[in-house]
Amino acid sequence: MSILSVTGLRKEYKNMTAVRGVDFSLPEGKCIALIGPNGAGKTTILRILAGLLKQTDGAVTFSGKETNADIRKFIGYLPQYPVFPSWMTAREFLLFSGEIAGLTKEEAARRAEDLAEQVGITNALDKRISDFSGGMKQRLGIAQAIIHSPQLLLLDEPVSSLDPIGRRDVLTLLERLKKEMTILFSTHILNDAEEVCDELLLLHDGEINEAGSMEALREKYQTSVIEVEFQENRQRY
Ligand code: ATP
Repeated sequence: MSILSVTGLRKEYKNMTAVRGVDFSLPEGKCIALIGPNGAGKTTILRILAGLLKQTDGAVTFSGKETNADIRKFIGYLPQYPVFPSWMTAREFLLFSGEIAGLTKEEAARRAEDLAEQVGITNALDKRISDFSGGMKQRLGIAQAIIHSPQLLLLDEPVSSLDPIGRRDVLTLLERLKKEMTILFSTHILNDAEEVCDELLLLHDGEINEAGSMEALREKYQTSVIEVEFQENRQRY
């Protein structure tokens, strides 16, 4: 059963086509990786799914219904370069985000504590965000993105800019979170996807070249997907 389906999705910017009529669906309860090199159209697709950018053509349906502004209630989104109010503490930031998401003060306070524990920043909850490492910021960003308990979490390159420790912490967190929600995350590094994702969408120049379970793609190629699919563009990944 799929939580979200996309048909004929197309996005044209003023002078170029970034997404060229893609079709895919996201199976509920899975972690799906949207893999592609720089400029493939990953951010464009995620922003459309998050309801932040209007497609030129094509339909996005969520749980069988065409998406509208209400969709944001069910979707969490972490952009590639999130901007944090660095002067706030993590607790202040989560409280503020919770209230914006429609929680009462009490609910937001409880949720901030629960989420801090879930993403492993309990000890830093009252520290200023300016003192956070890159990995901690990313985990705080994920906490904020799921403050309203969404069914689908969209993450744009959540580990690409992190050092090995930060990357490991975020991937471990995603491994846990995927038991609670469907996750779509973009990356240009296959290894990141292989660690936590069950399904892959390989995007190249605005088109999906391959889609399916990690296992099925491996079987099809009898080797690592990257050996076949990315050979020509290896240096770009
Ligand atoms: P990256 O990993 O570099 O972020 P991406 O796969 O996320 O790449 P997009 O950011 O979606 O790709 O960009 C797809 C294409 O659309 C690129 O060629 C980019 O230059 C172009 N593009 C993105 N945003 C705009 C915009 N606002 N106006 C014009 N062109 C854009």
